[in-house]
Amino acid sequence: MKIHVMKFGGSSLGTPEKICQAAAKASEKKKNGIFPVMVVSAPADITDDLIKLASQTAAQIPPREYDALLSCGEQMSAALCASALCSSGNAAMSVTGWQAGILTDSSFKEAGVISVSGEIIKDAVSKNIIPVIAGFQGSDNKGNITTLGRGGSDLTAVLIAQLLEADLCEFYTDVKGIYSAHPALVPEAEVIPLVSYGEILALGAKGTAVRQIRAIRYAMEHGLSLRLRSSFLSDEGTVLAAKGRQGINALALQKNKNGAAVISAIGYNLSEQDYSFFISAAKDCGAAAFYEEKDCFSLEIPEKEAENALRFMHSSIISNGRQKNGLQKD
Ligand code: ASP
Ligand code: MG
Repeated sequence: MKIHVMKFGGSSLGTPEKICQAAAKASEKKKNGIFPVMVVSAPADITDDLIKLASQTAAQIPPREYDALLSCGEQMSAALCASALCSSGNAAMSVTGWQAGILTDSSFKEAGVISVSGEIIKDAVSKNIIPVIAGFQGSDNKGNITTLGRGGSDLTAVLIAQLLEADLCEFYTDVKGIYSAHPALVPEAEVIPLVSYGEILALGAKGTAVRQIRAIRYAMEHGLSLRLRSSFLSDEGTVLAAKGRQGINALALQKNKNGAAVISAIGYNLSEQDYSFFISAAKDCGAAAFYEEKDCFSLEIPEKEAENALRFMHSSIISNGRQKNGLQKD
C-alpha cells in the first residue's frame, strides 16, 4: 500500500473544526487506498503564546525547560487529531517525538537529528493504525526533550517520509501553494505547479521562507517527493522536486533597513538570456542597481518604489515573460 505523510501546519489546526477537517482529510486518503501518516504542528499561535508565557514567568527560561514547554503545543495537536480520527471510526494513535525515537543532540531550541528509529510508527502502520506524530520534537540520549528549530514540524515530516520510504510527503497549509510573488502585493501572482528545492532555498535566502530550510535541505539530500497544498481546497498546489521549470519563476521582495529594497528573481537553470531579460526589465522600472547572484538575479530600488516595481517586474518577466520566451506556462 502506498504511504503518504500528511503534515498539517498550525493554521490548519487552530480550532476544533479545523482539527476535525485535517483528520477527515487523512481518513479520506485511507478510504482512497493510500495509507496516511500524519505529522502535526502546534495549533495556530500556541507556540508563540508559550514563548510569551515563559517570558512572563521567568527572567530567563533555561533552554531545557524552553524545549519541554514548547513541545507541548504539538502534543496537543497530535492527541486531538488522533482522537478525531478515532471518533470517525479509524484506528489512530498519537506519537511524540521521543516515542518515535527521534534521537537528537542536546542543542536545545535547534537540536541536530542523530537518528530516527520509528519502531512505534512502523508497528502502527503494520497494524492499520494511523500514527499522528507530534512535529518539532525529539529527545537527546539522556531523555531530555529537545526541539528542532522554528518550523521544525517540516523536518519531522521529511524524516518520517524517509523512514517509511513514503511515496509522497504533503504539507497542508492555509495557502494554495508557492506563488510567483506575494499575492497580497501582486494580484496576478499565480501558484507555481512545480518548484525545485534550489528555488525554495533561494527564496528562503531572500527572506521568503516557504518551508523550514533544514527540512528542504534534508528532502534535497534524500530526493524526497514533496507537495505543498491547501488544507481547505482541493487544488493540486505545488510540487517540490530536484528539477523545476526552466527560467525565472518567482520574485522575492526584501526590504532592508536603509530605505532600500531588493527584488530578486528566482528560477531554475537560469541562463544568460534570462539575465538579459531581467536586466532590461530592471532598467525599465528604474532600478538603481542590478546584479547576478549565485541562484538568482537581484535589483535594488528605493523602498517607497518597491511594491510598484515588484508588480512591474512580475508583469514583464513572469506574466508576459514566460510566453514571450516561448516557455509554457506550466
Ligand atoms: N510549532 C513550532 C513553531 O511554530 C514548530 C512548527 O510549527 O513547525 O515553530
Ligand atoms: Mg507553528
